[in-house]
Amino acid sequence: MQNKFDLIVIGGGSGGIASARRAAEYGAHAALIESGRLGGTCVNVGCVPKKIMWNASRLGEMLDDATEYGFIIERGGFNWGTLKTGRDSYIERLNQIYRKNLNSSGVQEIQSRASFTSNGAIQTEAGPIRADHILIATGGLPTVPLIPGAELGITSDGFFELPQQPEKVLIVGAGYIATEFAGVLNALGSNVTLLLRKDTLLRGFDVVLRETVMDEMRQNGIEIITGTNIKALASTRANQLTVDCDGGKADGPFDAVIWAIGRHPDTTDLNLKAAGIKTDAGGHVITDAYQNTNVEQIYAVGDVTGRRDLTPVAIAAGRRLADRLFGNEPNACLDYDNIPSVIFSHPPIGTVGLTEDEAVARFGSDQIMIYDHRFTNIYFAPMQRKSPTVIKLIVAGPEENIVGCHAVGEAADELIQGFAVAVKMGARKADFDNTVAIHPTAAEELVTLRGSRKPSGQSGAKP
Ligand code: FAD
Ligand code: NDP
Repeated sequence: MQNKFDLIVIGGGSGGIASARRAAEYGAHAALIESGRLGGTCVNVGCVPKKIMWNASRLGEMLDDATEYGFIIERGGFNWGTLKTGRDSYIERLNQIYRKNLNSSGVQEIQSRASFTSNGAIQTEAGPIRADHILIATGGLPTVPLIPGAELGITSDGFFELPQQPEKVLIVGAGYIATEFAGVLNALGSNVTLLLRKDTLLRGFDVVLRETVMDEMRQNGIEIITGTNIKALASTRANQLTVDCDGGKADGPFDAVIWAIGRHPDTTDLNLKAAGIKTDAGGHVITDAYQNTNVEQIYAVGDVTGRRDLTPVAIAAGRRLADRLFGNEPNACLDYDNIPSVIFSHPPIGTVGLTEDEAVARFGSDQIMIYDHRFTNIYFAPMQRKSPTVIKLIVAGPEENIVGCHAVGEAADELIQGFAVAVKMGARKADFDNTVAIHPTAAEELVTLRGSRKPSGQSGAKP
C-alpha cells in the first residue's frame, strides 16, 4: 500500500466522500479510510432508509385516503419484511455505487479503523500512512442514556435492523428522529407512545411548527407524554419491556423502546490527544469558519464538528474545504446561515431561517412582523380527514427582509428548497408579492400572504 498522500480523509460518510472526491478532481492524491460501510450514517442508517420508511408510511395514509377519492381498495395488511428486503438491497447497491465512484475519481479506499499517532502519521490496520492534509469526518453515534436496563432499548441503528414491526413501541426523545420515527411507525400501524422529558417536541423550532405537528400527531393516535424521565427499563418473561418513569406514566409493556435522545461525535478511537486536537465539552472537534482544527493541516467536517448535523452540510463543508486546499479558492468556506431543513413528520415540516423567538431576540420585537396563514390543502377536499397546513414568514425592518420562512403540512418537504434560495439571496416580502403564484398549490400561499401582525411573544416552550 502506498503510504504518502496529499489528503487523508478519515470517515467514508457524506462529508468524507464528498471532500475526497472533490480533492481528487483537482488532481490531489487522496486516500479515504472507512471502517464500516461506505456512505456512512446517511446512506446506511439515516436519511436514505428513513426516507424509504417515510415513503411507505405516506403510501399507507394515501391508501386509506384513496377510497374517498373513489377507488375501491381494501388494505390487506402490510409486510414489514418485504419493505426491509427492498430497502436493504437498495442500500447495498448504493454502497457499491459509492465504491465505484471513489475508484473512478482516483481516491484510494482503505478499509480500516484509523487513529492519530504522536509522530504525525495515521495508523491503519495495514500500517501507518501520511499526508500533507488530514480531514476528520468520522460523524456521530446515537446516544443511549445511562440508566439501568438501557441496553434493552434500541437506537435508530437498531430500528433499521428490526426484522418485524413492533406492535407497541415507546420512543424516548423530542428531536428529529423521535418525531419522524413516531410518525412512520404510527402510520404503518404500530401503537406508538412518545415520551418527552420537557413539554414540547422539537424545541428550537418555530412555535407554529412544533404545535401543529404535536396536535396532528395526537390527532393521528400517537400518545405523547410530556414532562417525564425514564429511570429504568426491564424485560418481562414474554420478552416485552416495562418502563419505570418519574413525572408521568408510560403504559407498557412495549415490544420495543427506541432511544432518540440525540447523537454524540464518534472520536473515541481516533486518539485525538496524540495529535493535540482540541474538542469541546460535548467531544466535538472544534473548528473555525474554514473547518481548520487547532492543529495546522488537520481539518474536520460534518457531524463530528457538531455544527448542523445534516448530510448536505457535511457535503458542502467537505467540498468547500477541498476547493480551498486544492482548487485555488483560498476563501472557500461554508456559510452556516440560513440552512434549510425538513422534518419528515406527519405532516412534514420545511423550515429555513430564524424562528419567531430568534428573530425577536436578534432584531427586537418592534422590528419584526409576522405573516402567517392556516389552511387545508386541496388534497383533503373530498375527504373527511383534514390535516392543516400552516405557513409563516418572519420579516425584519422597514424593508421587510425575510428572515424566517416556515411551513408545515402536505408538500412542505418539497416546497421549502426553492424558498430557501430566495431567503439565502436576501429576498424581501415585496419580492414574494411580485412573484406570480402557481395555482392550485400549497406553495402559492407563501407568495400571496397579506396582513401582518406583531410577534405573539408566545414561544410555547419552557426553557
Ligand atoms: P457519517 O455519515 O456519520 O460518516 C462517518 C463515517 O466515519 C462512518 O461511516 C464511520 O464508520 C466512519 N468512522 C468513524 N470513526 C472512524 C475511524 N476511527 N476510522 C475509520 N472510519 C471511521 N440528514 C439529512 O440531511 N436529512 C435527513 O433526512 C437525515 N435523516 C437522518 C436520519 C437518521 C435516523 C439519522 C441518524 C441521521 C439523519 N440525518 C439526516 C443526519 C445525517 O445522516 C448526518 O448529518 C450525516 O450522515 C453526517 O455525515 P458525516 O460525513 O459527518 O458522518
Ligand atoms: P436531536 O438533537 O434532534 O433531538 C434529541 C432531543 O432529545 C434533544 O433535543 C432533547 O430535547 C431530547 N433529549 C435529550 N436527552 C434526553 C434524555 N435523556 N431523555 C429524554 N429526552 C432527551 O437528536 P436526534 O437524535 O433526533 O437526531 C440527531 C440529529 O440528526 C438531528 O439533530 C439532526 O441534525 C439529524 N437528523 C436530521 C434529520 C432530517 O434532516 N430530517 C432526521 C433525523 C436526524 P429536549 O431538550 O427538548 O428534551
